[in-house]
Amino acid sequence: MVILKLDLRKIPDGESRKSFLINSSQLEYQKDEVTFQGDIQGEIILSRRSGEIQVQGQLSFMTSLTCSRCLLPFEKNFTEEIFLRYLKGHPNRRNQTSGEGEITEEDLTTNFYEGEEIEIGEALRDSILLALPVKPLCRENCKGLCSRCGQDLNLGDCGCPEEERFSRWKGLKGLK
Ligand SMILES: [Zn+2]
Ligand SMILES: [Zn+2]
Repeated sequence: MVILKLDLRKIPDGESRKSFLINSSQLEYQKDEVTFQGDIQGEIILSRRSGEIQVQGQLSFMTSLTCSRCLLPFEKNFTEEIFLRYLKGHPNRRNQTSGEGEITEEDLTTNFYEGEEIEIGEALRDSILLALPVKPLCRENCKGLCSRCGQDLNLGDCGCPEEERFSRWKGLKGLK
């Protein structure tokens, strides 16, 4: 679990910078084709204006991925922009006053806080995991493996008939 608390008693009005590290084991993310290398680095600017706190910045991290086509491992660096907005108060009370149940873009990026602490860890975890590709590719035009003989077609033609090379993407995993 990622826990990162902002202590409002220590955040001045206006802008302030903050950097932090998240240990990747705290993400509790287990997948064969994705391994985090080292910590996740965060650089954020906090903007505080009366009851509103904005968190804007970047998360950078390095991963080892497995290409979903050729099955070879490769490394990829990610830099994710983050933007979070927190208003003092309680969401339910606000909904009652706004009347209509329309969801605006503002609602989706706005969170609410009460007390003197804001917990942003889970929101950061979400941004990190959303950045990961569902089907990692070592390069955009990776040719993958021949579905007949298993050769890595990035290294050259295997000589199999063309229609058999690309016919069955499924079941490739067992070939290697
Ligand atoms: Zn590949
Ligand atoms: Zn082949």
